[in-house]
Amino acid sequence: MKTRIFASVFLSLFIYTTSYSQKPKLIVGIVVDQMRYDYISRYWSKFGDNGFKRLVTEGYFCKNTNYNYVPTYTAPGHASIYTGTTPSSHGIIANNWYDRESNTMVYCVDDKSVNALGGDTKAGQMSPRKLLNTTIGDQLNLSDNFQSKVIGIALKDRGAILPAGKSGKAAYWYDGSTGNWISSTYYMKALPQWVTEFNNRAVAKRFLESTWNTLLPIEQYTESTPDDSPYERPFTGLTKATFPYVLPELMAANEKLNMIRSTPYGNTFTKDFAIETIKAENMGKGNASDLIAISFSSTDYIGHQFGPNSVEVEDTYLRLDQDLAELLKFLDEWVGKNNVLVFLTADHGAAENPTYLKDHSISSGTFNEYELKGKLKKAMAKEFSDSLVLSVSNQQVFLDQKAISLKTLKADKIENSIVDFLLKENGIANAFPEYNLVNKEYAEGIESVIKNGYHVKRSGDVMINYLPYWMDSEVKFGTTHGSPYEYDTHVPLIFYGYTIKPGSTSEKINITDIAPTICNLLNIEVPNGTSGKPILQLIR
Ligand code: ZN
Ligand code: ZN
Repeated sequence: MKTRIFASVFLSLFIYTTSYSQKPKLIVGIVVDQMRYDYISRYWSKFGDNGFKRLVTEGYFCKNTNYNYVPTYTAPGHASIYTGTTPSSHGIIANNWYDRESNTMVYCVDDKSVNALGGDTKAGQMSPRKLLNTTIGDQLNLSDNFQSKVIGIALKDRGAILPAGKSGKAAYWYDGSTGNWISSTYYMKALPQWVTEFNNRAVAKRFLESTWNTLLPIEQYTESTPDDSPYERPFTGLTKATFPYVLPELMAANEKLNMIRSTPYGNTFTKDFAIETIKAENMGKGNASDLIAISFSSTDYIGHQFGPNSVEVEDTYLRLDQDLAELLKFLDEWVGKNNVLVFLTADHGAAENPTYLKDHSISSGTFNEYELKGKLKKAMAKEFSDSLVLSVSNQQVFLDQKAISLKTLKADKIENSIVDFLLKENGIANAFPEYNLVNKEYAEGIESVIKNGYHVKRSGDVMINYLPYWMDSEVKFGTTHGSPYEYDTHVPLIFYGYTIKPGSTSEKINITDIAPTICNLLNIEVPNGTSGKPILQLIR
């Protein structure tokens, strides 16, 4: 009896202590750029057993995960996933935004104080300095005396740099002018030897020596519109957007080695480099938990060009499914499923092509912010004898604050006047003056979504919300994203491996809940701007 009690006390103590010190060896964050939630069900019957299907059936699937701010673009998306908060706090309000101080558009990860490593100067002068909050990786490092290796990888610089946070060991992105994976002096003095060796194999060039044909016989792509559809933008030099694509013939007219971005091989290339990184850096084999943040960018380039209903997009996802299967198999062998914590999500979704919608009697339209700026300036000049508008960009109007105070004009009055003007414009659903966003609290609805995307120092003075399916006039072919509507905000979210039990939930989850959930599973502090909360259904 005594020994039994002793044994059970010992056992419970053992369970208690181990559960708090236990951590996965490796965390793998996967972002699929522009992946709509419904791609999972749309392509389900075509997926193999070991990619998306394995993640969904062996993992925990959060089926009702949405972005809770605007604009739904790549940079704010990646920043929000890894910081657990919205642009109102982390400050990444768009990919490029109008900067009042310099009176120019600035790029989210541009940093002229650092130098390129391994490639073109312009492509390499990048860092996470504009990101204002810590990330999952930063918290991991703060928790263990900076023993964790945190590395971000994506063809897009912003898709690699923002997830790796401020204290990441490295971020690697693609330089299309050389075909190399590159980095910057923000992270290190010189590119590691293994990266140079990988680059010397000219892998991108070899991928582009092939022909992109459909993985399955083309008549099986019944989930998509016919291959020859008027909604798709052909590659330069072609009159039709149809298979097969003989890449060596197209390269010269389509940005040469940069063209890999617009083919599914861009994702395979990213997967290959990610596996090489894990091996070369011995990730998941030390005492601390390591984090690799992988973002698959090609899905976005292909989505923009061909639209969500194209055979090209479907084929890209079937190939990504194979890449994921290979990555999961590698992780099985490298550290084992129980030692790896994987999550997969997207940085935003995408709308259907506006002409395709119209052809099916669904309302849609296009707007042009440049033209809107011209009209708005004229109207303001008439009313206030000064045009007052500096920029209309990312669904925001930036006012000339200096002119307003010099002329002792009332900002509220001008903002109201702009709202009145905007509401008369075609395609605008509503507009919100900054003074309301700053002074009022909103628990839900479009106001809260707008407010979450509004950063007091960086955002404009009036925020515009366009009608559903209204897109930038450049979207003649293919698609875009950026709105607060379901097609742009609803994304897949799957957790897999480590202690995750299979299951799913339809409860509403915000994108900002990912970081606190991961940190909760790791028993570490959440990032310093976190506004989301742990997904309790998953942790229990
Ligand atoms: Zn994106
Ligand atoms: Zn995009």
